[in-house]
Amino acid sequence: MAAVEGITSFEPPRRVLMGPGPSDVHQRVLDAMARPTIGHLDPEFVRMMDELKELLRYAFRTRNQVTFPVSGPGSVGMETCFVNLVEPGDKVVVCRNGAFGGRQLENVERTGGVPVVVEDDWGTPVSLGKLEAALDANPDARILSFVHAETSTGVRSDAAEIAALAHERGALVIADTVTSLGGIPVLVDEWELDAVYSGSQKCLSCTPGLSPVTFSEAALDKVRARKTKCQSWFMDLNLVLPYWEGGARTYHHTAPVNPLYGLHEALLMLVEEGLEAAWRRHAELHAALVAGLEELGMSLLVEPAYRLPQLNAVCVPDGVDEAFVRTEALRRYGLEIGAGLGALAGKVWRIGLMGTSCTRANVDLCLEALSTLLPEAAAK
Ligand SMILES: *Cc1c(COP(=O)(O)O)cnc(C)c1O
Repeated sequence: MAAVEGITSFEPPRRVLMGPGPSDVHQRVLDAMARPTIGHLDPEFVRMMDELKELLRYAFRTRNQVTFPVSGPGSVGMETCFVNLVEPGDKVVVCRNGAFGGRQLENVERTGGVPVVVEDDWGTPVSLGKLEAALDANPDARILSFVHAETSTGVRSDAAEIAALAHERGALVIADTVTSLGGIPVLVDEWELDAVYSGSQKCLSCTPGLSPVTFSEAALDKVRARKTKCQSWFMDLNLVLPYWEGGARTYHHTAPVNPLYGLHEALLMLVEEGLEAAWRRHAELHAALVAGLEELGMSLLVEPAYRLPQLNAVCVPDGVDEAFVRTEALRRYGLEIGAGLGALAGKVWRIGLMGTSCTRANVDLCLEALSTLLPEAAAK
C-alpha cells in the first residue's frame, strides 16, 4: 500500500510542442474531449461519426465511401492498410527513404508479402527513375507503398508521380500521409491513391491515438476478393465495412468516444480555416523559420524543392552538443524540439511546425531559444 501514498492527480507542465508530433492541441479540442461520454451506439454519437466521416473526406480531398478514423495511432492505420491489402505471396514494391518506409517494409514481410525495396538515401525523395525501373523489372507487383512526408528526414516525395507510375502498371498504391495531411496538399482522388493512412496528432493537432484512413473502390475490391482471412481480427476491414458503408451500426469494438469528439473539433477548425489557408500558413511560417535559422548560421538537411514545411531537419553545427540544446530548450523555454532518428541520430534536430503549433509566436520562440542556447552549447 505504501507505494501509492503521496500520488496525486497528474498535472502536465505547459509545453510548446515543436517536435515530430504530437503537436499542440488547441483548447477547443481539449474542451470537446471533456464533454460527457455517451454510448458509441447512441444515435447522437452515430450522427457525430457521420459528420466526422464528411470532415475526413474534406481533409483527404476524397469522395471515398470508406473513410474513417481507425481506433489507434498512425501505426495502427498503417497496419490496417497492409494486413488488408497484402495477401501472402503478393509482390509489393516498397519505397524506403527513411524510418517510416522501413516500417512499411516490416509490414510487408510480416503479412507474407514479397517485398521489392526501392532504396533512397535519407534526406532525399523517392527516386522516380529507380521506382520505374523496379516496377518494370517486377511486372507482377500488385502493390506499391511509399511515405508522402518522411518525418524522420523532412522530405516530401512526389505522390502524384509515384501513384501514376504504379497505376500505369496496374499496381495499387498505399500512401503514408501521417505527417502530410493538413500541412501540405494530400489529394487522394486527384492522385488516385488507393489505401491511405494518417494520424491525429501531427498537422491535424488532435491528441495522439486515432488514425484516419481512406480506401478507393479498387482497394476494397482487392480486400473483398481475399482468398485468405486477414491475419488481424481487429483490423480486418471486412468486419467493419458494413458500418462505414452505411449499413448496420453494430458492435465491433468500443469506439474511443471522447478522442473522437476531439478529432471532430480539430477537423472543424481545419474547415473553418480552410484547407488551402492551412497549407499556406505552413508554407509561410516554414519560410520564416528557415530565414531565421540561416541568419543564425544553420542549414537544413534537405534540398529546398523537397522540404516539408511542417518538419524541418536542421543540421547540428560542428562542435555543438545537440542534446544540451534540446534539454535546455525544454527546461528554460518549455519548448520541445525533436532529436534525429536512426541514421540521423545526433546529426539533426527535427523542428516541427505542425497544425496548431505552426504560429509566428512559436517560430520566434524557437529562434530565440536557439540563438541563446547555440553559443552555450558550442562553448561546452
Ligand atoms: C508519426 C508517424 C507514423 C506513426 O504514427 P503513430 O501515431 O506514432 O503511430 C507513421 N508514419 C509517419 C510518416 C509518421 O510521421
